[in-house]
Amino acid sequence: MLNLVLFGPPGAGKGTQSERLMQRYGLVHLSTGDIFRHHLKQETELGKLAKTYIDQGHLVPDTVTVSMLKSAVLEQNSPNGFIFDGFPRTTPQAAALDRLLLELNTDITLMLGLEVEEEELKMRLKNRATASGRSDDADPQIIANRIAVYNRETAPVKDFYAAQQKFVAIDGTGSLDSVTERLFAAIDSRT
Ligand code: AMP
Repeated sequence: MLNLVLFGPPGAGKGTQSERLMQRYGLVHLSTGDIFRHHLKQETELGKLAKTYIDQGHLVPDTVTVSMLKSAVLEQNSPNGFIFDGFPRTTPQAAALDRLLLELNTDITLMLGLEVEEEELKMRLKNRATASGRSDDADPQIIANRIAVYNRETAPVKDFYAAQQKFVAIDGTGSLDSVTERLFAAIDSRT
């Protein structure tokens, strides 16, 4: 199996690039943010719980997120592999993902980290707010929270995969196509 983690701060382009990787490599795309938004829309109990965190730009607690992700993985019937987008966002989530994949006799192949400067991220999120209709993209205070949470809680996840020689940094600036080419090249040279 080819199992990729697409990593990076909010606005780095994880969603857009995941779609392209999914198509090229025939992977199942799992975005915890998308799954939460689906629950929010359906007004499930999980959606109502997640909303209190998402609206503030905070992380949904690990126990909730990990059990949701586990179900989404186990639901798949012999996939070629996964692209994890927006997960893991904390070191305990990364450890839980390793344990889950081990149970399935597989592991993470590569973590691809999209790197984009903070000022550019803020600009991209502001522009995205209109198209996405996401309230957490529209409010500068929430955006600032999300970036702060990323720097504090999520950035260290990089070290978790670097320790396993699985982390590759990718320049996330320039045209969408040029970023995609860099991602394809990094994956193809490692597999
Ligand atoms: P995203 O679409 O990845 O930007 O996620 C939107 C929001 O969903 C985040 O700001 C968090 O509140 C929540 N969320 C998504 N993925 C996770 C995760 N792995 N752990 C905790 N919270 C998450």
